[in-house]
Amino acid sequence: MAQSLRSIEVFPITTRTLDVLRVTDVTPGMRRVTLGGPELAAHTAANGFPVAAFRSDGFDDEFKLILKHPDAETTVGPTQADGLLNWPRDDPHMLSRTYTVRRWDPVAGELDVDFVKHGVGPASSWAYRVRPGERVQIAGPKSSSLHPDGVDWTLVAGDETALPAIGRWLEEWPAGARGQVFIEVGRPEHRQDLPVPDGVTLTWLSRDGAAPGTTTLLFDAIRKAPWWEGTVLAWVAGESLTLTPIRRWLKSEKGLTREQIDVTGYWRRQVAVHDGDSVPSNLDAGEDEAKRFHEIAEIIPGFALRVAATIGLAAAFDDRPRTVAELAAATGAAPAGLGKLLRFLASVDIAERLDDGRYRLTGLGRELESDHIADAFHLDGLYAQRELGGALSLLSAVRTGRGDHSRWFGADYAQYIADDPALLTARTEHEAREAVYVAGAVAGATAFAGLATIAVAGPAPGSFAAALTKTHPDLHTTIVAAPSEIDALQRLYPAHARIGYEAGSLLGARPVPVDAVLLADVLPTLTDTDAAHVLRQAAASLKPGGRVLVFGDVLNPEVADDHDYEEDLIGFALHGGGARDHDEHQALFAAAGLRPVARTTVGWGYTLHTLAPQG
Ligand SMILES: Cc1cc2nc3c(=O)[nH]c(=O)nc-3n(C[C@H](O)[C@H](O)[C@H](O)COP(=O)(O)OP(=O)(O)OC[C@H]3O[C@@H](n4cnc5c(N)ncnc54)[C@H](O)[C@@H]3O)c2cc1C
Repeated sequence: MAQSLRSIEVFPITTRTLDVLRVTDVTPGMRRVTLGGPELAAHTAANGFPVAAFRSDGFDDEFKLILKHPDAETTVGPTQADGLLNWPRDDPHMLSRTYTVRRWDPVAGELDVDFVKHGVGPASSWAYRVRPGERVQIAGPKSSSLHPDGVDWTLVAGDETALPAIGRWLEEWPAGARGQVFIEVGRPEHRQDLPVPDGVTLTWLSRDGAAPGTTTLLFDAIRKAPWWEGTVLAWVAGESLTLTPIRRWLKSEKGLTREQIDVTGYWRRQVAVHDGDSVPSNLDAGEDEAKRFHEIAEIIPGFALRVAATIGLAAAFDDRPRTVAELAAATGAAPAGLGKLLRFLASVDIAERLDDGRYRLTGLGRELESDHIADAFHLDGLYAQRELGGALSLLSAVRTGRGDHSRWFGADYAQYIADDPALLTARTEHEAREAVYVAGAVAGATAFAGLATIAVAGPAPGSFAAALTKTHPDLHTTIVAAPSEIDALQRLYPAHARIGYEAGSLLGARPVPVDAVLLADVLPTLTDTDAAHVLRQAAASLKPGGRVLVFGDVLNPEVADDHDYEEDLIGFALHGGGARDHDEHQALFAAAGLRPVARTTVGWGYTLHTLAPQG
């Protein structure tokens, strides 16, 4: 199953400036700042863009608090754009921290934010000093995830940074749901008076003065707790490195699937040198140009890290310093090669060589322990294969306008994936997981109201079909995909009476006309010529009055960062398509003989274009 056990609502991100209404201490360890003010309501920003009303439906909804950099005259933060924000990413004085909406009362028009009083940091120092009447800019939340569906119980664990989320969760806990909750605090007097609903056990753990992020209290308590029968969702948040063994244990000892594990690092312990009450001095370490050039130019560090992830180096350490021979035995690698790899990793601060010759991972190197990194860096995995294919095909793509994936891999990229069942399944599941974040919001767009039939194509047609049929009870959806993809989709999604499959190519005409064709994330995988052809075929598949709906990312040069342009390069090298900006989309639609009827921003800057055949 690819979908999360927690349904997610995505909404366009907003930024607004709020008034500090009250400042109180909930406990000696937690300061509460209550925010309110007219900008909580829907309004128009000073630059003319609409700002939707503040929303927070989920217990762990997060937002960014925008803070003044100590070296700046004024606060530098994002500005509102159309359904997204313009972040001044190049401004070294931009400073923000992530916090939870502890309480949201739309009637009173106020929200609480609880700050752990952990010492010096821009956010905690702000909370120590702020007084009612001051103002603060926030950004978000941009989505809300709800209590898990279809589970028998929930395991909840966190340190004091997770206490705001857990406190709200217990206050909003659905009647009858079962759960075990563990909360770690610094001292017994930091415990809070929280409701304990029927079916829930709450255990407080105290570090009794030990430094935060240095104990195994949460892990020990979870391991000792009775493991209840049935399907569980584990939600764990706190100091990043202390969560790694918990995540690993849930996965390997308890056999939980990815969807059952919701483990999030909320902060990272750093040994910082503070100068009295000032903020840490490494907020904006300036970069020397030559150093930056060399960092950008490096190939081998990134590759060596992927080799380390592929052989399972992090797991082989199993939290202890190890000799090269021990690591070679655990990973099945050749000692000579592994010795060289470790020596290199030590030179770039990923590993550390101890006086007795053993190695251990540094704090930086322990990033390799994260499941996300292990997945993304595995050289046989989908993500790395895509990056490798893109990187190797780039020269040809830049020189000739077409990548040469088949020269390196024996087939073009699409065929290469289609021919490998493991990669095909991984891609189908990955696309489905990603689409979950937007499919619901897309299905709610007015463009779909009143449609009786729709054909859907793209890398995650199942997610869109499921969301559309759920939102529109009379809509019949046909998924158009290659036969090999249909097999993978049918394994992933349960059969549905109003969802059919049609083996076919987007380049060919469809036999039965429909009210609308939805092309979701299709255009980036096509050259301009093929994209125009696909759009024309979609238009030819419509009943009179029908619409072509194009959903996907529109490259916005004002907010795009290096990762967006990297994706664009890889997409171009692999498919001859890539990202397109607004004007390029319009040109494509015109070339296909399609007239724009409407354009809607759907969460996170994605765009739904409604198009009609011209004339
Ligand atoms: C989704 C999400 C939701 C969060 N919600 C909350 C929330 O509601 N309330 C809350 O208090 N925090 C919350 N956090 C954690 C918070 O963002 C971090 O603790 C953040 O680092 C605090 O920023 P700062 O400016 O105070 O300190 P920073 O400048 O980030 O750090 C300064 C120093 O303090 C240390 N440090 C940071 N946080 C802690 C801590 N909690 N205990 C001990 N040392 C620390 C750092 O290691 C560093 O050495 C959340 C984080 C995430 C990702």
